Amino acid sequence: LPSIEKQFADSLKSIARNLEIKEYIQQSPELYPLFLSSAKRFVTGESREDGVSIGDQLVHKGYRISLEFIGENTINKEECVRAKDEFIALIKQCSNRGISSRISFDLSHIGLSVDPELTFQNLLEMAKEAQSHGLSLMISMEESAKTDQILSIYKRVVVEYSNVGVTLQAQLYRTLNDLNELLNYSGEIRIVKGAYQEPSDICIPRSDKLDQRYLELVDLCVRAGHQVSIASHDEAIYKQIIQRGYLQNSNVEAEMLYGIRPELCKQLKDDGLPVRVYLTYGVEWYLYLCHRIAEYPPNIYVAITDMIQG
Ligand code: FAD
Repeated sequence: LPSIEKQFADSLKSIARNLEIKEYIQQSPELYPLFLSSAKRFVTGESREDGVSIGDQLVHKGYRISLEFIGENTINKEECVRAKDEFIALIKQCSNRGISSRISFDLSHIGLSVDPELTFQNLLEMAKEAQSHGLSLMISMEESAKTDQILSIYKRVVVEYSNVGVTLQAQLYRTLNDLNELLNYSGEIRIVKGAYQEPSDICIPRSDKLDQRYLELVDLCVRAGHQVSIASHDEAIYKQIIQRGYLQNSNVEAEMLYGIRPELCKQLKDDGLPVRVYLTYGVEWYLYLCHRIAEYPPNIYVAITDMIQG
């Protein structure tokens, strides 16, 4: 059964990628609210205000937050500029509300699939705006075909704006080298296991070996005194991190996606440890829902139950 779940989840993700699901959902007014109700476990809502107000509530409960306007692989210049403008508006809205959020995003949302130079300019503008409001940016890591481009744009920006960080995927063999190089730059590093299916010659599958590599990367950051976000829902990873006393270090924090393992988030937060919750909003919530199901296929049952219960 798990392999059937996995095949279903992978198909769902590739359908979503091709945007067929977008048309399907949008042309089905009776299905739209059903899908939206199942997405709401993982997504705050469709509007910026949905993200900011749920973020505000979490901040009042003692969490740090990251906010993302959902989108990826934008395919024309106008949409890239619109996405960048939305991120600028999000930075301003957080600042006006006194919320010190981190803003998280894919570079392919603001131009990577269209023009690397446009991406760089959009990123610079966002970094400048965020810095003027005392906020930080975090670049997500996408599939391995984009890693070089993402890291090269990141390095150009971080030398001017140290409030910009980047995500590295422990599952890629190359990451150990990438991290050693990035430790020479001042921006924060977020370490994830990796959400993309990659060829086996470049990628470590989910395994003890991957968990060890994950911890090795965290060790390197901590020993270098670098700011690092441990972005995982894996209790075993946190057990190791806590045993090593890392979450007592002011450069280190835990980060989890909204709606996933909320009890683990609460437990760490109640133990006085720094926990950041990653929140998303936007009309492309179906893409995000597909990612969460593909990453953890049992979420299909959760989504169906949420749909039935409305
Ligand atoms: P896993 O070994 O995958 O899971 C450990 C346990 O966590 C599972 O057994 C399950 O109990 C729970 N779990 C994990 N995922 C889910 C889920 N979706 N639903 C319910 N339970 C779950 N990936 C990228 O490739 N690029 C990025 O930029 C990126 N940014 C991220 C930012 C944050 C803040 C987080 C938390 C994750 C991000 N990811 C990103 C996703 C990441 O790569 C993993 O796919 C995801 O975190 C699952 O891996 P894990 O570390 O939780 O461990």
